[in-house]
Amino acid sequence: MIPRIDTGTTPTYSRGYDCIEALLRQAGLRPTRQRLSLVKLLFAQGPRHVSAEALYEEARRAGLLMSLATVYNALHQFTEAGLLRELAADGAKSYFDTNVAHHHHFLIDGHRLIDVAAESVAIAALPAIPEGMEIARIDVVIRLKPKQA
Ligand SMILES: [Zn+2]
Repeated sequence: MIPRIDTGTTPTYSRGYDCIEALLRQAGLRPTRQRLSLVKLLFAQGPRHVSAEALYEEARRAGLLMSLATVYNALHQFTEAGLLRELAADGAKSYFDTNVAHHHHFLIDGHRLIDVAAESVAIAALPAIPEGMEIARIDVVIRLKPKQA
């Protein structure tokens, strides 16, 4: 299962590898073997949330020789290219979301993210926005913990 580019830069999961290469090129990123390998690792399992550290481990297990810094840089380049969305979940650690469509998240115990459909969250009120600014995006993170007995 490999991402497909529908409209804009929203990857879904059924077409070939060529469009990933095209998308990387469009974003000004050379489709190097390392980048293509990482894209394949990222999208082969369907929508998910992954940290740079976890992807680095996966790459090592898959026999790909690259540094954590390389993985980290690639993730940021993919994010800028619109292939991924970056989520700051627990302050220190960033997660990268392969689902770039608008949606929100449950965060369980500070590290496990589950998608929440955008339409299941309603924002009733918003603060005044500083002058000259507009809202780019609203991300809701609903933090969960096990129920107290
Ligand atoms: Zn998500």
